[in-house]
Amino acid sequence: MSFLEDAILIVGPCSAETKEQVFATAQAIQQIAPHAIFRAGLWKPRTDPHAFAGVGAEGLTWLQNIQTQLGIPTATEVVTPEHIRLCIETGIRHLWIGARTTANPILMQSLADALSDYKDEPIYVYIKNPINPDINLWRGAIERIAEAGIQHIIAVHRGFSTLYNTEWRNTPMWSVPIELKRRYPTLPLICDPSHIAGRIEGVQTIAQEALEIGYDGLMIECHNHPQTAWSDAQQQLTPNELKELLNTLAVRANKVSNKQDTTLLALRKQIDEIDDELWQLISRRLDIAESIGTHKRNTQMPILQSNRYEEILFKRIEWAKSHHIEEETVRTLMEVLHTESIKRQL
Ligand code: PEP
Ligand code: MN
Repeated sequence: MSFLEDAILIVGPCSAETKEQVFATAQAIQQIAPHAIFRAGLWKPRTDPHAFAGVGAEGLTWLQNIQTQLGIPTATEVVTPEHIRLCIETGIRHLWIGARTTANPILMQSLADALSDYKDEPIYVYIKNPINPDINLWRGAIERIAEAGIQHIIAVHRGFSTLYNTEWRNTPMWSVPIELKRRYPTLPLICDPSHIAGRIEGVQTIAQEALEIGYDGLMIECHNHPQTAWSDAQQQLTPNELKELLNTLAVRANKVSNKQDTTLLALRKQIDEIDDELWQLISRRLDIAESIGTHKRNTQMPILQSNRYEEILFKRIEWAKSHHIEEETVRTLMEVLHTESIKRQL
């Protein structure tokens, strides 16, 4: 099965630059991915005040032209209620909310209020994760738009800012979108590998990882001449590179219901048994911590003895090394256990 047939696919340049550039790019993308929605940013909330900030409302007719001439739905980023009104009046029904906007609850509420006027129209709102890894901020933004009556809401994972440059422009922190999906299992979740990777060579790796996890689609930046792009030049694919990417992405197309997969069922049974034992042990560990608490109280000993904690932590980290468990995992689990023990001792 081809990835092209089933997924939500949004493809196009970071920014609309000229009428000719968007039209030529849309035409090239249509040849490769006929069912893709065409994206192009008109209003660009840029971090650098001197960077290109978008052509603004002038580009609305360029997108409208693509819709009527090529029959492709178009998408753009909205930052203010006015942008929403302008887009909808022009017939642009796919609107995304950028990472810098999702992080601002007052702005989010004003967008939700503007969208509530159009709740009976087929409007699609794509909500990018906030720039910081705060799942509640993301969730709050989604809830505001849902409460405005918008039926089609799609979450977009575009990675998170960090102080230092890592391998990626925006670190993926997969656990955040996975937790969002756990809380809202029916909410479609797509990945924006372009803004995570920040460079064309990384786009394939991130997109493939998203598909393995089970994302519902991708938003990808593609420009007919990326070298001369006015924004995000390093991460935009040429149409040929897009074709190559879509051909190489491997989809996990297993549609067998979990209930019929006996291998999976047997493995899950083992996990459940181990969890039963683990919880029994955790409960016993906490009971012992409580006895230690009583003893410390009776002997006037302070509860916190950090050298003891360092000792047991170091021992477990050493052990974990030979069992393919990461140090970070040991630290996280031990911290939770230790905090719970201290609570019991109090
Ligand atoms: C974009 O999609 O071009 C963009 C600016 O996205 P983000 O809000 O994820 O930075
Ligand atoms: Mn961009």
